Amino acid sequence: MSIVNAKEILVKATQEKYAVGAFNITNLIQLEAVVEVHIDKKAPLIIQTSVTPSKFLGREVLVAIYRTLAESAPIPICLHLDHCREVDYCKKCADAGWTNIMIDASREPFEENIRQTKEVVEYCHRIGNISVEGELGTVSGVEDQIKVVEDEAALCDPQQALEFVERTGIDLLAPAIGTAHGVYKTKKPQVDFERFGKIAQLINDQGIRAPMVVHGGTGLPPDYVAKLIELGGSKFNVSTDLKRTLIDATYDYVSEHRDEYNPGKIDVVVKDAIKEKVIYWIDMLGSPGKA
Ligand SMILES: [Zn+2]
Repeated sequence: MSIVNAKEILVKATQEKYAVGAFNITNLIQLEAVVEVHIDKKAPLIIQTSVTPSKFLGREVLVAIYRTLAESAPIPICLHLDHCREVDYCKKCADAGWTNIMIDASREPFEENIRQTKEVVEYCHRIGNISVEGELGTVSGVEDQIKVVEDEAALCDPQQALEFVERTGIDLLAPAIGTAHGVYKTKKPQVDFERFGKIAQLINDQGIRAPMVVHGGTGLPPDYVAKLIELGGSKFNVSTDLKRTLIDATYDYVSEHRDEYNPGKIDVVVKDAIKEKVIYWIDMLGSPGKA
């Protein structure tokens, strides 16, 4: 029960209109903090790793930690690889034990995006119980957010989204709707809700084929999050928020205790800070008690 793929937990979330956070981690302390909070809250969890930390920590080490924590946890936990642009590396992570793989070929032309995504889908479904996430349109960095939203071509086209899901067989769809990676420079980011709703309707109205993912969760106002869940969003990627919390908490502690050389104390402070941030997100997503 504890080791699951993302689709297994997201179909239920989509039906019941709550969402599951995909929390980006780069080290053991963050990973433990995220897992402990979710156990306390009885919430399903998606642990998210980027490609770089997976190489830095090592795929086998990361998966061994994930499995150890997940197998003893009374909640479902998925291990998600975020924005991997190489088909071969997607396969390596699937082999190692990730349970959700995101192949991001969104910068490629439509047909090539389909080809690469389909190859990863076929591989993951063949070797195990692994779901696959694909991206259509470009989820930008915040620097380009306004430009991307104004440039319709960079956003996900609803009809193409349907074709993309049907031809690739993906399990989760991340459509570009104007949300962005990083920290929004405005309190009112431009998000194309109408487009998101239309895509969700086309894909998931007659039974949930591909739960919808919202990238660029950090800094989204709570009313935006609520609206996106209502429209059919069930996975929110949260990365920048946790990276900033890790660095700020470390910096603040070390600045105040410059003569102390006790890494364990920094870990405790960082863990508590991460937990607080994750609780904010779980409550906002409505996932407590849903495990
Ligand atoms: Zn993303």
